Amino acid sequence: DHLVNQIAAGEVVERPASVLKELIENSLDAGCRRIEIDVEQGGVKRLRVRDDGCGIPRDELPLALSRHATSKLAQLRDLDAVASLGFRGEALPSIASVSRLTLTSRARRAHDPGACEASTSGWEVSVGIDGELQGPRPAPHPEGSSVDVCDLFFNTPARRKFLRTERTELDHIEQVFRRIALARPDVGMSLKHNGRVLQSLPSAENDPAGAAARLDRLLGKGFAEKALTVDEAAVDLRLHGWVMRPAFSRSQADQQFFYVNGRAVRDKLLTHAIRQAFSDVLHHGRHPAYVLFLELPPRLVDVNVHPAKHEVRFRESRQVHDFIFSALHRRLSRGAL
Ligand code: ADP
Ligand code: MG
Repeated sequence: DHLVNQIAAGEVVERPASVLKELIENSLDAGCRRIEIDVEQGGVKRLRVRDDGCGIPRDELPLALSRHATSKLAQLRDLDAVASLGFRGEALPSIASVSRLTLTSRARRAHDPGACEASTSGWEVSVGIDGELQGPRPAPHPEGSSVDVCDLFFNTPARRKFLRTERTELDHIEQVFRRIALARPDVGMSLKHNGRVLQSLPSAENDPAGAAARLDRLLGKGFAEKALTVDEAAVDLRLHGWVMRPAFSRSQADQQFFYVNGRAVRDKLLTHAIRQAFSDVLHHGRHPAYVLFLELPPRLVDVNVHPAKHEVRFRESRQVHDFIFSALHRRLSRGAL
């Protein structure tokens, strides 16, 4: 199983940033209000994510590190979805097979009424070098979970060789952080690297000023003020967020964020529609900056796509393309950017 996990890790874990993405998504799935991220040496030495989510009861801790023991399968509606998301429930065991991983957690009391004594402290499990599970053993922890990933790829030198400099790995980590923080202003998020605080974002739920402050901190001072807000709808489709004139961005590629039903995606069709609207109205289609959210009924999106790869497939791709183009065209024509 250890070997199977290491092979699966090849799918899920490319670099520290991909570990971070999986851990943050687990924290969000656990309904947390706050996520604290602590990284050392570009995430290669250490990557710790702590949340205040629902936590994991003692008896379920070993399961969290076992293959396909996801607690989330029950939420999937049909077997089709299970088949297409077959590799889910693999993130933690995969990461654990290529690092030294410790999972510490305390379940929320309301969810764990029988275990009064147990829930006054926390519990932790880890995976030994041989892949043996160790624990659960008592460990102090507030309500929520911490996942501590040390020495990524220490036992897979071939993968380790593909890692870049500390600076580059940190860039990827910051990009993952930014991408998620933009979509979840309701969750407080902080990021530390080698003991230095790089970001500390309070929750900005129902707080437009807070949301604007977060936008500025993630995309540069003045972004919120200078950007054009977008909110356009058609039958079944809604596009909202911000667009910015091309010259604003420092590095163009990291100022383009697109989400479909809250999930970050990169897609040629979407990029094309946005560019075309910009070039039609502003006669300057290259390198627009934007944070855009497309909402549509789930039945119009195919889930049968690798979730780690930011891909998306629409049932009616032409219709989606044309909606985005005309929505942005309308908005850009109306407002001065
Ligand atoms: P998946 O997210 O697809 O279920 P993972 O391997 O990422 O699979 O996680 C395995 C399981 O561990 C989850 O289903 C969940 O029950 C538990 N888990 C992982 N991280 C957390 C967390 N931060 N808070 C609560 N439960 C968690
Ligand atoms: Mg997961």
